[in-house]
Amino acid sequence: MTDTPAPASESASESATEPVSVPAPVVLPEPTTARPVPGQLTFQAPRRGKPPRHLADFTPAERKEAVESLGHKGYRAKQLSAHYFERLEDDPEQMTDLPKAVRSELVAGLLPTLLTPIVQRVADDGQTMKYAWRLHDGAIVESVLMRYPKRVTICISSQAGCGMNCPFCATGQAGLTRNMSAGEIVEQVVWAARALRRGELAGGGDDDHEAPLRVSNVVFMGMGEALANYKASVGAIRRLTDPAPDGLGMSARGITMSTVGLVPGIDKLTAEGIPVTLALSLHAPDDELRNELVPINTRWSVDEALDAAYRYFEATGRRVSIEYALIRDINDQGWRADLLGEKLNRRGRGWVHVNPIPLNPTPGSKWTASRPGVEQNFVERLRAHGIPTTIRDTRGQDIDGACGQLAASTA
Ligand code: SAH
Repeated sequence: MTDTPAPASESASESATEPVSVPAPVVLPEPTTARPVPGQLTFQAPRRGKPPRHLADFTPAERKEAVESLGHKGYRAKQLSAHYFERLEDDPEQMTDLPKAVRSELVAGLLPTLLTPIVQRVADDGQTMKYAWRLHDGAIVESVLMRYPKRVTICISSQAGCGMNCPFCATGQAGLTRNMSAGEIVEQVVWAARALRRGELAGGGDDDHEAPLRVSNVVFMGMGEALANYKASVGAIRRLTDPAPDGLGMSARGITMSTVGLVPGIDKLTAEGIPVTLALSLHAPDDELRNELVPINTRWSVDEALDAAYRYFEATGRRVSIEYALIRDINDQGWRADLLGEKLNRRGRGWVHVNPIPLNPTPGSKWTASRPGVEQNFVERLRAHGIPTTIRDTRGQDIDGACGQLAASTA
């Protein structure tokens, strides 16, 4: 069944109350998902073996239970959390405040290896790094780490593949393999934080600063539609934002949740009351074109998606980002900029900004980026409507690490 939204309870991380089974059984990867047919949407992730359970799958209360289920005192959960979230430590040898036997059992039971790095590629003079990870069942996902003058951003994956089938996106063309667990999502950030600590990312022009580099921004713009894997994605956001030692203590403002416009998911996120930034991948202001570019539009129209984004702004006070990949002669006409400006202004002022990005090339796609003059005109037309508009920086194009290019080839 490919056509109904998966209930949140079916997400991959739902293992809170289950007994521990370590090591996890090795599940061989299934044959590659067939290429999706045009317009087809896949909400329900194929069932594969669950990833081993991990500390980062759990709330602090659940961690206590998990530790007790391993036969240890509940307060050990806090100690283990401090090692993992505060010190980024998963080596039992370093956990000297814990008795040796306790350490190895807790690490074996709650800090299993979820990500195995298989490829690491560098671009932009060492300031951009793309990682490909193998998950426990052989599925492959990618993350991209980018250093800027005053921030470090990691672009993370929330699903292996994606079921949203946007024809201009390499991930969408590969289909959905499976949902990722909260632990697998968080581990991408923890790995990046460790890499930064080891000084593995080249300077961003701010080498004079003394403090160790930290991951300041996390964007859910890698593989997958995070709101289609709601429970694990929001669980991951909680782990990232909970203050140490319960979580990584990041600012919610530094986190961006990007979506094709799953309206019920946006509304649910609104109700969570976590002030992350919402990015809506719009790409067209009219239903006729958006039905083709972002097939979810056949379920929730441009107006419905914009209304949900506006409700998000109203509830959180966070300015929403509209993502718009400029595709030559497809969605880059001046009248579409005007229509977009009108639709945004109809809902209010100061609630939104637009982030056009020149389309990144993907294999087999007939489309290409807009000409620079056309791009500039599009931006100016939007600004003339009073809409703050900035061209999105694109990184890692030469390593297929840019937006829409993540397809998990191991080349
Ligand atoms: N599923 C989410 C997040 C993943 S994609 C979403 O769609 O928002 C992150 C962003 O990259 C989205 O705005 C997406 O539309 C955009 N994108 C996809 N393919 C692209 C391409 N070839 N060039 C530029 N941007 C692209």
